[in-house]
Amino acid sequence: MIRVFDKVIDLDKPVNRFTVVDLICPKRAWHVFNEPVKEFVNSVDELMVSGVETHNLVLSQLREQGCSVEVPVEVEVECNGQKYVRRFRVDAICDGKVIEIKRKYTKELAPLYIWQVKVYMALLGINKGAIISLLDGYVKEIEASMDELKNVKERLLSNMRKVLCGGDVSRHVGKWCRYCRYKDMCLNERLM
Ligand code: SF4
Repeated sequence: MIRVFDKVIDLDKPVNRFTVVDLICPKRAWHVFNEPVKEFVNSVDELMVSGVETHNLVLSQLREQGCSVEVPVEVEVECNGQKYVRRFRVDAICDGKVIEIKRKYTKELAPLYIWQVKVYMALLGINKGAIISLLDGYVKEIEASMDELKNVKERLLSNMRKVLCGGDVSRHVGKWCRYCRYKDMCLNERLM
């Protein structure tokens, strides 16, 4: 607990948020959502902070060239008659394509990045997108049918419901487990 004048910052409170990347697996999203703020602070390093600044510099260049940047998207799910709205932010939309900026695109991280872009494509009803890899200039173009995007959206909504509505939270094991902060407690690394 930190006191600032008459205000209090409670580092033991749960984070109560998740990202689209976390939602690739309901269990991962659940862990993030319920993690105390202090754990989250521990996991953020200086590299991530400077990564955010780099990101902003690149986005401002895209904005100058007519792209919409940091576009908000809202997702609503309902649990037992109660509505929950979650907001995500798409890096950019340029010429009708979803653009996501990454420090470096690698084949190991590709499943996470591609899932993220496809979620944005599904939420916005856009069937083309790209991931820009800043360190090497690689551009990974992505195209998906509306049927595929419908499945992506259903999976996203289902995973959000699993986290927000309570009850059993299932695992979704995949290549991404190797890069999951919770793999040790999840034990799935042993199954891979
Ligand atoms: S290790 Fe894999 S299955 Fe377990 S929480 Fe992480 S992403 Fe989900």
